[in-house]
Amino acid sequence: MTANLLDYDLDGLAAFCERLGEKRFRATQLFRWIHQKGAVQFDDMTDLAKSLREKLKTTAHIQALTVLSQHISSDGTIKWLFDVGGGNAIETVFIPEDDRGTLCVSSQAGCAVGCRFCSTGHQGFSRNLTAAEIIGQLWFAEHFLRKYLGVEERVISNVVMMGMGEPLQNYLPVVQSLRVMLDDHGYGLSRRRVTVSTSGVVLKMDRLGQDCAVALAVSLHAPNDALRDNLVPLNRTYPLKELMAACQRYLEFAPRDFITFEYCMLDGVNDTPVHAQELVELVQAHGKNGWCKLNLIPFNPFPASGLKRSNHSAVLAFAQVLSAAGIVTTVRKTRGDDIDAACGQLAGDVQDRTSVLKRMAKQRTIMLTPVSEPATLREPGT
Ligand code: SAH
Ligand code: SF4
Repeated sequence: MTANLLDYDLDGLAAFCERLGEKRFRATQLFRWIHQKGAVQFDDMTDLAKSLREKLKTTAHIQALTVLSQHISSDGTIKWLFDVGGGNAIETVFIPEDDRGTLCVSSQAGCAVGCRFCSTGHQGFSRNLTAAEIIGQLWFAEHFLRKYLGVEERVISNVVMMGMGEPLQNYLPVVQSLRVMLDDHGYGLSRRRVTVSTSGVVLKMDRLGQDCAVALAVSLHAPNDALRDNLVPLNRTYPLKELMAACQRYLEFAPRDFITFEYCMLDGVNDTPVHAQELVELVQAHGKNGWCKLNLIPFNPFPASGLKRSNHSAVLAFAQVLSAAGIVTTVRKTRGDDIDAACGQLAGDVQDRTSVLKRMAKQRTIMLTPVSEPATLREPGT
């Protein structure tokens, strides 16, 4: 089997090229062809010597995941479903805004943490994604979007590891992918514009700070251990005191001078003024004003959760308590919910492909022929 070059960061590619008897600058050229130009054929890489291209043809390939479907929301959000084999699929979401293009990337098929309010968590854990499968989501989306929009410049300016899976439970492939995102010869994204979201894997938070300090979002969801134990089972391993201390340590490395806390608003569960006040006390006990920001996420319901979204007035009242205490608080706008692309709605289970296909047919869906490179769009039925 030949090597999938999407699996390598620049150092890895340099080592691969060295094994072929090639200098590092050849690896840099190759890396740029792959990530900056989206090339898949070695013969297109015109500034590489013919002899190297021939060697690459017998030892390597460039292969992203197979696209199962693409949905475009009325608000411009695009969701892709990618096949990862064994009846599993993962989802990737592009969210266009006036001043940025954000890609929400998955790190695992399923998730072992099992948060009560998360549909990925309810689905259980299937497997870790490889580095090629993680960076392949950005590779595919970036080069697809350039073609689709008819532009040559970069479309995706921000990446959030907020798709399916707990990124810090798939540490090495995630860090390797982050390095490709940040590399000037890769996607050249700023550390401030790449965010890892974690449910609080304390040991790996410390390692991430040292290995590849990008912006950090921590999924908090509760102001005390009893409630958090229930909503985010990982809290039983890393309780709030340890999590808060890890956040403080991360600040020494972080590209921003604050940590973002995500807080999913669940009706009657964690959304009362008493919870808000407890949350104020929690964050104030662990750092000086301004060390964190709160992002309140309206819960995206799914039937098996048995939970309800907080009503709007409860969210505003909650935000008011935090703001009055000097904590910068935002309420996340829900995007792409007409195509089930909103936070926590990513299930990606294609055990039953017929139901997926039926659902796609009902929605405004553009079918793609399964491809591993930026594809030609084909309207359903053509
Ligand atoms: N595992 C990581 C990243 C993926 S989840 C983490 O938990 O942080 C990304 C975000 O979506 C998290 O903040 C998570 O709490 C939130 N989320 C999960 N399910 C949700 C739902 N049903 N509605 C709203 N947000 C949800
Ligand atoms: Fe896993 Fe994050 Fe979902 Fe929790 S919220 S189950 S950690 S993906």
